[in-house]
Amino acid sequence: MLKYLVETYGCQMNYSDTERMEAYLDALGFIPTKDFEDADFIMFNTCSIRQKAEDRVYGQMKKMGQLKKQNPNLIVVVTGCMVRKSSSRYSVDRDKLFVSMPSLDIALNTDELPQLAKLTREINPNLKIHEIEEESLEDYFYITPTHTSHQSKAQAFVAISNGCDKYCTYCIVPYSRGREKSRSIESILKEAEGLVENGCKEMTIIGQTVNSYGLSQHDEEHKTFEYLGDKKPFVHLLEELDKLKEKGLKRVRFTSPHPKDMSDQLIDAMARLETQMPYLHLPVQSGDDRTLKRMNRTYDTKSYKEILKKLRKKIPDISISTDIIVGFCGETEEEFNNTYSFFKELAFEHGYLAQYSERQGTTAAKFIRDDIPKSVKSERWHKLNELLKENSRNALKRFKGKTVNVLVESQEAKVCHGRSEHFKTVQFNSGRKLIGEIVPVKITDSKQWLLEGELV
Ligand code: SF4
Repeated sequence: MLKYLVETYGCQMNYSDTERMEAYLDALGFIPTKDFEDADFIMFNTCSIRQKAEDRVYGQMKKMGQLKKQNPNLIVVVTGCMVRKSSSRYSVDRDKLFVSMPSLDIALNTDELPQLAKLTREINPNLKIHEIEEESLEDYFYITPTHTSHQSKAQAFVAISNGCDKYCTYCIVPYSRGREKSRSIESILKEAEGLVENGCKEMTIIGQTVNSYGLSQHDEEHKTFEYLGDKKPFVHLLEELDKLKEKGLKRVRFTSPHPKDMSDQLIDAMARLETQMPYLHLPVQSGDDRTLKRMNRTYDTKSYKEILKKLRKKIPDISISTDIIVGFCGETEEEFNNTYSFFKELAFEHGYLAQYSERQGTTAAKFIRDDIPKSVKSERWHKLNELLKENSRNALKRFKGKTVNVLVESQEAKVCHGRSEHFKTVQFNSGRKLIGEIVPVKITDSKQWLLEGELV
């Protein structure tokens, strides 16, 4: 039996995809291992968001060359954002990665996972691989994931769409994953129900632009959600998931939404539904309108502010985090200062700050010059990061003396870590094993990035 190992880089979407890949490899009759030396089949589920992420994969490829000397039958696969064309080293029309990765055997587009068996047979026709029923090979979403990304059954990711129609100029996703495609609501609910019956308390539904679920060009052409009338398909989905509270589901989170699709209906649903939490991660990327235009983000700072105003009116205590890219092509000092002021004014409580790095194949790489020196990008990043730290410290202070409910994610000896309703990391001690449980914790202190408390 072949032993496999999947190494994952990047966002939650990639971790969710890995769960599908593992399930598929299990179905082929492969056995999981955690040891590179022991594996006969190694997959790298890659991320292209930054150069560093790609560099790590190239670094691993050197290691694969060494491992192949010890185990000549080792099969090495690269999947995820770095791949453009599913192919094997013997294909006539191969992915470009084969040129720069001599140890590579298979390149695989994520949503073409069902092709993996065929490509593996091309590499080694003598391998004993289980046959999988035709129906389950039709679509990537038919593959039921292993749900192994979390330490307990109490948490799970559920992918509801794949690909993206937004075409931000700096992003490779619309090219690597293709156009946005929504999964059927029946199949999402079937998976969700199964998870809840199995003990899931917190579900994070994911998609590249999760709240545009059902609104893609593909859905419009196929009139997939016409039966809902004016109701937004994403809101309908949240309502259906909310009904699972009867069976034990406590929390439904979603990531990452796009500001353009933050409808009033959605804001209302977030305020109204019991399983919705008072937290939202809403990527803005820049607080300057000219920069947003060059990024093709399709909204401006005014409309973004309006969304936050509505959210805070309906859910006064909501915590909001965001993503920012500093040093995007042509970003002047004034434009950066606008982003800084915007970040301060909107009081983001958390955020993922990135320094822009050009990704081959994107519109920005083709048409806009990456003209901001590295030193300037770094300086801007540090300045914004100082503000982020201050915002985080201030935001956490308001929880002191309050009791929050924590879903425990990890526990080492007595030290437990978990997330509160507001997605704040909470640390406390317990002599009991609590992973996967939701427990009340009284907050006694707040640090830079986390809250400390005592089990009530
Ligand atoms: S919305 Fe923009 S950044 Fe997000 S996946 Fe789509 S193209 Fe990329």
